[in-house]
Amino acid sequence: MMTVEQTLLDRSGSKCELCTSTSNLSVYNVPPNSDESADQSILLCDTCLGQVKNSETADANHWRCLNDSMWTPVPAVQVMAWRQLNVLKSEGWAQDLLEMLYLEDDIKAWAESEMTDDDSEEATVDSNSAILNDGDTVTLIKDLVVKGANFTAKRGTVVKNISLTSNPKHIEGRVNGTRIVLVSAFLKKA
Ligand SMILES: [Zn+2]
Repeated sequence: MMTVEQTLLDRSGSKCELCTSTSNLSVYNVPPNSDESADQSILLCDTCLGQVKNSETADANHWRCLNDSMWTPVPAVQVMAWRQLNVLKSEGWAQDLLEMLYLEDDIKAWAESEMTDDDSEEATVDSNSAILNDGDTVTLIKDLVVKGANFTAKRGTVVKNISLTSNPKHIEGRVNGTRIVLVSAFLKKA
């Protein structure tokens, strides 16, 4: 079986999936992710990785590479291109690219789900933007590897009587008798 890194090296032709650099490539799990599979990861060079992790250091000129890489068919790369264009949207060219970058609804939801928002009153919403409340029942829309509990919660699993948390991106619920934190973007209100 291929490792995630090998899969990504194959997919990218051993290049950074955002800027095509070949130096110091590493696997980046695109947050929020339900597992660390290749589908939810991208290969980044050290320059891209550093600026993704610390958006204040973003060098606008470096990110002109998105002009090409945003047309990728790979959803995880589309998500990161969209997010970096948002970081830079005070630049006219980045705003123009953002307007051209069409994302399917589920990919857009993924891209938006990690945007920091100053609005602390933000509601907890599911993958369809339906508001979630304590006691609701939800269904998983992706397989979810439960870290530390050694099982995978399958897509379609019903979780009853959820609790909201202080983080609007997360709820808590009981799966297989274990109380776990679930990413609200991967849930559908029943
Ligand atoms: Zn790069």
